[in-house]
Amino acid sequence: MSMQEDRKKALEGALGKTENLINMFERTVRKNWDLEIPQSDFSQTAEKILGKAEPAAEIKEEKPAPAGHGDIRQSLDLAGLAKDCSSCTRCRLASTRTNTVFGEGCEIRPDVLVVGEGPGETEDKTGLPFVGRAGELLTKMLAAISLYRESNCYITNTVKCRPPENRDPFADEKEACGLYVRQQIALIRPKAILCLGKGASCMLTGEDESSMGQLRGRFFFYDNSIPLICTYHPAAVLRNAELKRPVWEDLKKLARFLNLGIAGERK
Ligand code: URA
Repeated sequence: MSMQEDRKKALEGALGKTENLINMFERTVRKNWDLEIPQSDFSQTAEKILGKAEPAAEIKEEKPAPAGHGDIRQSLDLAGLAKDCSSCTRCRLASTRTNTVFGEGCEIRPDVLVVGEGPGETEDKTGLPFVGRAGELLTKMLAAISLYRESNCYITNTVKCRPPENRDPFADEKEACGLYVRQQIALIRPKAILCLGKGASCMLTGEDESSMGQLRGRFFFYDNSIPLICTYHPAAVLRNAELKRPVWEDLKKLARFLNLGIAGERK
């Protein structure tokens, strides 16, 4: 084969792969944001440049099986999952909880699924997520980008039972409860995920070694498909007012991405 033919073959291969990637991207955009975008006519452009190319091998969309569905029945709907959770004894936190705190909000394709760390005292008493002091701040933060638990967002935690003395949940507790979080995400199908604090951020990005400073403010993709952004936990903001500004920047980034109204800005 001449050098020119060699280069043509390589170019054809590269264009075929690019086309597959573009198609995969379009499918993902359509699936996750319900957008109508026209089919690209990339193949025609490629044909004009190169003549008819051999069809390139299909690149398989990478979708690793969601980790750790373990022994939770996949057939459960959200109410069934909540019921299963309410009698869960998969980790030691079951022995000290008053109530499980499964989650609350818009259950069908909310704009955002908010994931905090774990219930505190008030949440343990009421069975509702983020209803204490950090919760009040969270409610205000979300309202500033047009998110409300009654209508367009769902709020949950990495663990559904209160850790004693509000300590950080242990790795095995998060692993056990990860079964619920992942199943919730699969059932609710949020358009985006907002992780509050390091526990939730590391759990859902898989970036175990990173600090919040490294994780915040950029987009990840949960399971290669759902856009996810991390920011500081509201309890950390209550302790350190300097975190207000970066949190606001992160929330605005999420709002712009989802085309949500931002307090103080014209839409
Ligand atoms: N902190 C959390 O992470 N979750 C809650 O539900 C309350 C406080």
